[in-house]
Amino acid sequence: MLFTEFSPIALIATTPTGAKKLQPMSQNSTATLWVPESLSEITNAQKYKGSLKKHVVELWETHQAFVFCLATGAVVRLISALLKDKSTDPAVVVIDETGKFVISLCGGHQGGADKLAKLIALQLGATPVLTGASNGLELPAVDMLGVPFGWCRGAGDWNAVSAAVAKGEDVEVIQEAGSTLWQNHLPQVHPFKFHESPTTKAKIYITYKTSSPHPPIPSITWHPRIIWVGIGCERGTSKQVIAQAIDQVFQQNQLALAAIAGIATIDIKSNEVGLIELCHERNLPLKTFSSEILRTVTVPNPSQIVEKEVGTPSVAEAAAIIAASQIPTSPPEYTTSPPEYRTSLKVPKQIYRPSIQNLKSKACTERSECIQNQRGAVTVAVAASEKEYIGRVGKLLLVGTGPGNLDQMTPAAQTAVASADAVIGYSLYIDLIAPILQKHQIIEALPITKERDRATRAIELARWGLSVAVISSGDCGIYGMAGLVMEDLQVSGWDGKNPSVEVFPGVSAFQSAAARVGTPLMHDFCAVSLSDLLTPWEVIVKRLTAAAAADFVTALYNPKSQTRTQQLVTAREIFLKYRNPDTPVAVVRSVYREDEQIILTTLEKLLDAPVDMLTTVLIGNQSTRSYGEWMITPRGYRKSS
Ligand code: SAH
Repeated sequence: MLFTEFSPIALIATTPTGAKKLQPMSQNSTATLWVPESLSEITNAQKYKGSLKKHVVELWETHQAFVFCLATGAVVRLISALLKDKSTDPAVVVIDETGKFVISLCGGHQGGADKLAKLIALQLGATPVLTGASNGLELPAVDMLGVPFGWCRGAGDWNAVSAAVAKGEDVEVIQEAGSTLWQNHLPQVHPFKFHESPTTKAKIYITYKTSSPHPPIPSITWHPRIIWVGIGCERGTSKQVIAQAIDQVFQQNQLALAAIAGIATIDIKSNEVGLIELCHERNLPLKTFSSEILRTVTVPNPSQIVEKEVGTPSVAEAAAIIAASQIPTSPPEYTTSPPEYRTSLKVPKQIYRPSIQNLKSKACTERSECIQNQRGAVTVAVAASEKEYIGRVGKLLLVGTGPGNLDQMTPAAQTAVASADAVIGYSLYIDLIAPILQKHQIIEALPITKERDRATRAIELARWGLSVAVISSGDCGIYGMAGLVMEDLQVSGWDGKNPSVEVFPGVSAFQSAAARVGTPLMHDFCAVSLSDLLTPWEVIVKRLTAAAAADFVTALYNPKSQTRTQQLVTAREIFLKYRNPDTPVAVVRSVYREDEQIILTTLEKLLDAPVDMLTTVLIGNQSTRSYGEWMITPRGYRKSS
């Protein structure tokens, strides 16, 4: 589903034309279209009663994005009293009634309105109107930098640092944690300095530690979520006590709570109410491990008492280390020797007991609550993982980019590519779609022979939590990357959900080639790839023979390469057994690209035409005829008339 990252979205129109403009989005995503009750002719929309202003107030708090098809002035009046802060305001986008412009009005960065406006514009074929200062720069916005990786924004003067970047002043980046992939695709000229610089005007810290409250120059802090907190606790320990224990350990060690990836513990604690409540409140995952797994970890502070009680000498330290190691812990892997965990402990186990002191420091208004909260003891250990926890289900968008020219790529496919955190494909195709790539995107172009590596990398990034567009020319699922990715997912025991997969069709070479020569595919047709790298040649011969005998119009993919020259010769011989030598044949090279070349010939003369790996060959059936520059396969209408 496109646009899911913005959901819930409210689409609002007050006229039938406006409603029509917004309808494609309501069909395509998790968005609700709202129109006034008076527009009874609009059927697939929700109707609001009374004033729009009142209705927007009702939707405001619960929606992540608003898309209005309304005059900008009217929208400004509707939302002005509702705006609070750019870090919490929703995205507000306005589309004009003609559908030519998509304006990112409010919540451009953190609300995501800039991105949403760009995606809607791609879908509608409109122009996005973005007015934030960073849009003129070929740079990612500093307040969006960590979003793909699930980093949390920490303290800082975000406006001042953004302004320094916009002015092109030197901005020092101190990155101690998290992915550095964002650094790979910066333009040649950028203000970021990755070492100490005397001319630095601002600093960006990317760290799991707390930031200095009074930095000498404007600074911002991003917190990649790399910290796993191992917890052991007495049964019945309250949420408050566990929270106090964690907060105290973090404070004492200058660790940022925002850098917590999740909580780890022993499986018998998976129903520990306080722990569950805390994870829920702080939106953290709870990872649990069996005592058999926990006891395989070498820890600094094992305890015999704990071992006697739960069957492992360590809960907090061992759980933190395993969670941070990110090594899968499904049982089959333990049938052989246990994995070597790299020690990633940042803080060895600390035992915390709620004292009256601690309780007094928290505002305990109810006496009974205080007494209840006093129970329990908590053990806390902290480990850091190499890779941050993104906290999202990754997506694989398998996209066909069409034959080459962007005009031939579907708006849905364009929107999918523009929405992705990372785009992976063969370098030639990445170049062909360059205009729709976004400056914050991770672009990984690989040489043509590296299909398997491309698929593996895409799956790796998506498993981690990124949305990854894998692109193939033509249709991604016709001799394309989509098949490779799906096969690899299947053999890896994919559950069908994580990562999620969506396939975006594209115009395949046989369709484009056919379109350039007329209507050769008007009757039954088939495609055969002449590449015997993955398919045995006998199988290809069998299929060619069957296609020729059954009188299918036939598209030949991968007809010839520098080293594979004989296959086309044999294919022609097979077809000559069943079809006339003067059967029309189209040899179409680089269709819809700058160096497009189209030759209309016959089966007899096929080998005289220049054919290479960028060519598709279309062989007509017994009724196909050529007419001037055109190739026509009759459907049979004229016979019946
Ligand atoms: N997924 C692609 C096919 C990839 S296989 C699609 O659906 O079109 C590669 C083969 O596709 C090439 O050897 C050639 O036969 C054909 N092909 C791809 N792009 C082409 C183009 N622009 N013009 C002509 N043939 C093309």
